[in-house]
Amino acid sequence: MITDTHCHLVPRCFPATAPNGLMQTLARDAHAAGVQCICAVSETADDMTTLVATYGPKKDHGQAGTAGHPKAARVLVFGGLHPVQLMSADEARAITAENPMRNPRVRPVSWTDWTAAEPLLTNLARTGQLAGSGEIGLDYTPYVLVGHPHGPDAAKSDQLCMLDAHLAIASTHNLPVTVHSRSAGKYALAATDKYPHVRVAMHTFDGAPGKSAVPALAWRDKLWFSIPPSVCQPGSAFRKLVDLVPLSALLVESDAPALAPEVGDEYNIPANAARVVLEIAAIKGVPVEEAEKVLEENTRRWLGVLG
Ligand SMILES: [Zn+2]
Repeated sequence: MITDTHCHLVPRCFPATAPNGLMQTLARDAHAAGVQCICAVSETADDMTTLVATYGPKKDHGQAGTAGHPKAARVLVFGGLHPVQLMSADEARAITAENPMRNPRVRPVSWTDWTAAEPLLTNLARTGQLAGSGEIGLDYTPYVLVGHPHGPDAAKSDQLCMLDAHLAIASTHNLPVTVHSRSAGKYALAATDKYPHVRVAMHTFDGAPGKSAVPALAWRDKLWFSIPPSVCQPGSAFRKLVDLVPLSALLVESDAPALAPEVGDEYNIPANAARVVLEIAAIKGVPVEEAEKVLEENTRRWLGVLG
């Protein structure tokens, strides 16, 4: 069994040209490829509402299969706010009017986002409707940070406070987390160090694997690194991460619709998590069955299914 530990299984994340019913098709195709479980992450409060309404307890999205429709992968709902948010049309207009050179598409997560999301997140966690928290984390890339009205330092400080608040909720409710870090690997790892009992997956980690990933593993036993399908690309930096990090500390993800296995794919799909298993086995030089078995044990430990 393979688990896609990080996927954006929300229609708005896929191209507008994608066919109707795509989410159901993706869950069925994943199951057919051996990916029997998908961790669906949210980026916004609206995503959380959509995911719980579609995949929450007692919701039927075709997991059991019916005549003419094969079984679909089981979907676990993760709740949280992404450190990068899309700007609303009004925000984009205001930014462009002030400075036409600025990227008006994205901005860092704000306290307004948090105020809207926190009661929902806490309630879903308290009532057992979440399997984990994510996508949360830090994004210190300059084009994101400049979207904060008070500048880059304020953007970093706000992101760090909100990551800490998410980790506190995860700690209280014993939830695993999936953590985004861009140009902020060591800061994201340090933030999670404050919560040594929280089971952390660093998702598509872009820090130096030998300088930050490996030392972090040396003293934390509740830390994993999840690898996306773009590891299949010959020049991918994730190949070095897979090489340096022990198999016992790796997880598999799709990050669909992003990070497809081939350059030029229109969008990525959760079934491609199965290709990550093959690639990890090849890089590590172990049989595919052995890689799949260890990766699934890792996933169960991260999810808290095993002790
Ligand atoms: Zn993601």
